[in-house]
Amino acid sequence: MPSPRTIVIAGAGIGGLTAALALAAKGFRVILREKAERLEEVGAGLQLSPNASRILLDLGLQPQLAGAVVCPETVSIRTARSGGEVMRLPLAASAHADAPYWLVHRADLQGALLAAVQSHPNIDLRLASPVQAIEAAADAIRIDDLEAAALIGADGAWSAVRGKFFPGVQPQFSGLIAWRGTCNAAALPSDLRPSGVQLWMGPRAHLVIYPMSAGQRINLVAIVPGALLAPGWSTPDGSDDLNAHFSKARWPANARAMIATIDHWGRWPLYTMPDGGVWHSGRVALLGDAAHAMVPFAAQGAGMAIEDAAVLAKCLGETRNDGDIPAALARYAAQREPRVTRVQRTARQQGQIYHLQEPMAFARDTVMRLLGPKRLQARQDWIYNWRL
Ligand SMILES: Cc1cc2nc3c(=O)[nH]c(=O)nc-3n(C[C@H](O)[C@H](O)[C@H](O)COP(=O)(O)OP(=O)(O)OC[C@H]3O[C@@H](n4cnc5c(N)ncnc54)[C@H](O)[C@@H]3O)c2cc1C
Repeated sequence: MPSPRTIVIAGAGIGGLTAALALAAKGFRVILREKAERLEEVGAGLQLSPNASRILLDLGLQPQLAGAVVCPETVSIRTARSGGEVMRLPLAASAHADAPYWLVHRADLQGALLAAVQSHPNIDLRLASPVQAIEAAADAIRIDDLEAAALIGADGAWSAVRGKFFPGVQPQFSGLIAWRGTCNAAALPSDLRPSGVQLWMGPRAHLVIYPMSAGQRINLVAIVPGALLAPGWSTPDGSDDLNAHFSKARWPANARAMIATIDHWGRWPLYTMPDGGVWHSGRVALLGDAAHAMVPFAAQGAGMAIEDAAVLAKCLGETRNDGDIPAALARYAAQREPRVTRVQRTARQQGQIYHLQEPMAFARDTVMRLLGPKRLQARQDWIYNWRL
């Protein structure tokens, strides 16, 4: 007989690692299966707002993260129309005494979560261990050679777990490419070095720049329309597309100077799941990008995965025995679906606003100035003020 309190998680990304810690804190034994042989330093910077940082602090990650994060004071919103600042939003004011706004390198966050997972006696992390065969029964679930009370698919946008239970639900290409690059802070001239977050809005494109790794590194993301490349097709100088979008005619010199500082770009086609996502079936639940991959324009994809993990652990922690688990997963789905749907829509709408072209771009900048920083910042409160 399997232990009644064993949960298998597929995927050790930000969502799966956080879920493992949150479930172990509720007394479950967790088997965390990751298909990769080692957890690579993929991705670049992440913004984590108070709704997410609070959960990580509750899981005891402050010591591991303290030296790596940057707590920005503001977001400077700029327009490519003039190169000028439209407004400065007070991020520090939206942080809470118990939860800061963090800028963090994904590798630093993953490293902190991984260290906590590896030192937890009730979490068994298995690398090079892809979840493949899944057989669902009424009283347990069989995952390859394991039997468990529940299976959590935290296996990303191309989730194998979702593929088994929701084969018709697939991520769609958004038509947008995220170009991600990093550089040493010292590589940027001091007048271009951001101390907080900079968001540059321009015609059919935007740019986000911020410091991370205790201010030593700069993260730069440029979002532009683009095509999917055929498998195996690669460009020797992949940033041609990018340079064409950020041409002299459309973007001011300082934005282009920051782009020129990056010597290696990663090209990330942005895929999204349908609004509302897909969440659970019997003893199986999805979490993070597997359920709700979204465009990153509200900077909430990882944040929502972290919230999912906390809500999932709360719902499963309320069960008395294995028989209660399907109902607990249904409660988890019901709690997450409305909020995540709203975040997905908000993210998409923000991208549309950032990418407006003339004359709408002029109207956007004018309305933003009229609204002022306090009212604009208050529009994020429903995201940042969330608590378990
Ligand atoms: C340009 C860009 C900027 C972003 N900026 C932000 C931001 O500022 N703030 C924010 O909150 N979010 C941001 N995001 C979103 C965020 O990166 C993702 O939402 C988040 O990393 C998803 O985490 P996850 O754990 O759900 O999935 P993933 O990170 O994809 O992890 C899935 C894991 O599952 C493993 N796996 C896959 N298949 C299997 C299998 N069959 N068995 C076992 N393991 C398997 C994979 O190897 C991987 O390790 C951004 C995204 C992009 C593209």
